[in-house]
This record gives sequence, structure tokens and C-alpha cells, in this order.
Amino acid sequence: MRAAVWHGKRDVRVDNVPDPEIINPRDAIVKVSSTAICGSDLHLYNGFVPTMEKGDIIGHEFMGEIVEVGSEVRNLKIGDRVVVPFPIACGSCFFCNEQLYSVCENSNPNAAMAEKMWGHSPSGIFGYSHLTGGYAGGQAEYVRVPFADVGPIKVPEGLTDEQVLFLSDILPTGYMAAEACDIKPGSVVAVWGCGPVGQFAIQSAYLLGAERVIAIDRFPERLRMAREISKAVTLDYEEVDIAAALKEMTGGRGPDACIDAVGMEAHGMGMMGAYDRVKQAMGAETDRPVALRQALMACRNGGVVSIPGVYGGFLDKIPFGSIMNRSLTIRTGQTHVHRYMRPLLERIQKGEIDPSVVITHRMSLNDAPHGYDIFCNKQDECIKIVMKP
Ligand code: NAD
Ligand code: ZN
Ligand code: ZN
Repeated sequence: MRAAVWHGKRDVRVDNVPDPEIINPRDAIVKVSSTAICGSDLHLYNGFVPTMEKGDIIGHEFMGEIVEVGSEVRNLKIGDRVVVPFPIACGSCFFCNEQLYSVCENSNPNAAMAEKMWGHSPSGIFGYSHLTGGYAGGQAEYVRVPFADVGPIKVPEGLTDEQVLFLSDILPTGYMAAEACDIKPGSVVAVWGCGPVGQFAIQSAYLLGAERVIAIDRFPERLRMAREISKAVTLDYEEVDIAAALKEMTGGRGPDACIDAVGMEAHGMGMMGAYDRVKQAMGAETDRPVALRQALMACRNGGVVSIPGVYGGFLDKIPFGSIMNRSLTIRTGQTHVHRYMRPLLERIQKGEIDPSVVITHRMSLNDAPHGYDIFCNKQDECIKIVMKP
């Protein structure tokens, strides 16, 4: 089959690779009909995630048709059309019972290595390095889906791929980020990053009753989408002093909640970027991560800082005294996607949210190298790419 394969930093190719096979009785094989490139894939692309190996198949946002099921998968049959959540979860461990699917303790065979290298062990994730289990990803013609009796959700008749594909990740991610904000009538929420996750965080904050959402980025096209489609008030961080502007817009108090939908590599800060090492060696203070630090400092006393943006390893210069003395609440995590798929599917069916609005590019899986290039380097025009094998 054809699949998008990681060959090194900024080197994704479409290769011929062996078809996946059922290994465990709870596996299914999905024939992919649509798959997307995520901001998280850029962390792999830019080389910020260790334990990627040449030949690894990438991609964790995908959907398609069941073409084979293991003997213990009774809820799915050949021909079913499904969306697959990006975290792999067993459905029955302590954490799955708490609906904390992205920290399932039974789905990452490399948990011990991750613990040693990173100090934490996430659940298995499709196509996301050996630290998250080394599973082959979904930017491919076929994918093996472990615990297929737990994760995939069947798509009702009448919905297109583009309406439901993002249930796999970014729609639940934006929603969980907003849900974490304890939104009440009158709440003002500020969102750093107007990528797809930021757009869905803005839209979800309104669904949950926010009075006003202020969105921050520097790309005109992303800011335009935030304004015209997601209905936010926007700020360009290259043009205004964000801290001062947010104060002024909230009567001097600061937003009730702040969402960091930027994450690490936008700052070159995965493990601690070369930029910062050089600055430190020169004895200079590092000024990153900009968005997270701004979010923490801007949030009103007693407010919530919600962090869907992905970080790995250690982050320096976090103003912890301010967090403590201003009674801030911090909420973060890889999204517990399974928890949100059904309720969000219902919202899509009712027309309350249309996830397809973020798609700017559609292409063949064969064009994945071009897709990665423009999603990484032309973020103004390229907001979300959907690929068809
Ligand atoms: P993206 O790269 O498309 O968007 C990031 C945006 O942040 C860009 O528009 C960029 O211009 C903006 N940005 C950079 N620096 C900024 C700053 N200082 N202030 C304001 N904006 C700034 O990515 P995406 O797909 O929208 O994903 C966003 C983040 O969410 C990534 O870190 C991704 O890994 C993460 N993510 C997390 C989960 C999860 O489970 N928690 C799931 C999906 C994605
Ligand atoms: Zn993702
Ligand atoms: Zn589990």
C-alpha cells in the first residue's frame, strides 16, 4: 500500500509499504477514505519528537471503512464507516474507567522507555513516534486499529467525510480546551493560536456560552477565519502589545480564561530549542514560550489557563509564583477524544457546528510531501489539509 513515511527532519515521502494485518483479536483494519495533517504532525516534521525512526508511517487523524475485524470485535462489521480517535485506549483500565483515555495504561508498549526519557508515559497514539507505542499511522491506504471495540465510532448515513473527520482529534481538542475554562454567562476567553485547534476552541467557547472570545495570531488569513467564521475579536501579536490590549479589553482585569492553542514548536521549544540554548550560553534570559507565558500572565486572578498546545520535556521560566499567588487553575492534556466523539457528532448532526469550515486544501495522499511543506511554511494560506488515499 501507499503511505506517508517519515524519513527525517522535514523529509516526508510517500512510499510503498506492506499492508497492515490483524495481530490481536481486538484489532480491525480500516481502509482510509480521508486523513488530515495536524499541527501535532509538524512537531514530528520539524524533528522535535525523539524516537521517530526512518520508515515510520505518520498520521493520527483518519477515517474510513472497516475491511477486516479480529475475532473479539463484535460491535463492528466489514463495510462499517468509522472515525477513529487518535489516542489508543483499552477501555477497561483505571484511567479508561475515569474517561482519561489519553493516559490509558494498557495501550503503550513503550511506556517504560517514555517514562525514562520523558518522565511520563502517554497512551498509544497512531503514527506518533515510538514513545507513544510505535503504531503505524493513518496517512496511509490501510491502518491497523488496536482496541477497535473501544475507539472507532460509526458514522450515521448522510454525513460526509469532511463533516466528521475532525472528530478524530481537533474538534474534541478545541472543545475540551474550552470546556476546561469553566465558562459562565459573561465570560471572556482569550485564545492564542488561530490554527485549526484554536478555531475550534473559539467556536466551542461560544457554544459553551462565552460572551466574547479574543483570538491572537499573526497570519492575516487565520485571523480572518477567526473573525469571520469563528466570530472572535482578533489581535495581531506582531502589531499590538497583547498584554496591554487584553487588559484594556477587559476593564483592566484580564480574560476569565486563556487558551494556549500554540504549543511547543511554534516557539522552537520542544526539549529546549537551539535558539534558547545559544541565548542561555550567552547569559541571556530566554523569552520563550511566548504564548504560554502571555496566557499565564494575562489571565485574571482566579481564572483558568487551558493548554491544548502540545509540549514535551521541560519548559523553563514558567512564572510559577504568579500562578500560585493569583489562584490560577491550569488544565491541560492530550485530548480524551473518546469522551467527546458521540456528543460532538450529535452537535454536528443538529447543525450546531460544522467542522469542515477549517479546510483550505484537499489533495491526494501522494501529495503528502507538498502538504507538509505548505502546512509548515505557508501557514497564512494553508489552515487545514485533507488527503485522500
Ligand atoms: P497550527 O500549527 O496550525 O497552529 C498554531 C498557530 O499558533 C499558528 O497559526 C501560529 O501562527 C500561532 N502562533 C505561534 N506563536 C504564537 C504566539 N506567540 N501567539 C499567538 N499565536 C501564535 O497547529 P494546530 O493544528 O492548530 O494545533 C495547535 C496546537 O495544538 C499544537 O501544539 C498541536 O500539537 C496541539 N494539539 C494538541 C492536541 C491535544 O490532544 N492536546 C491535539 C491536536 C493538536
Ligand atoms: Zn492531531
Ligand atoms: Zn485503558
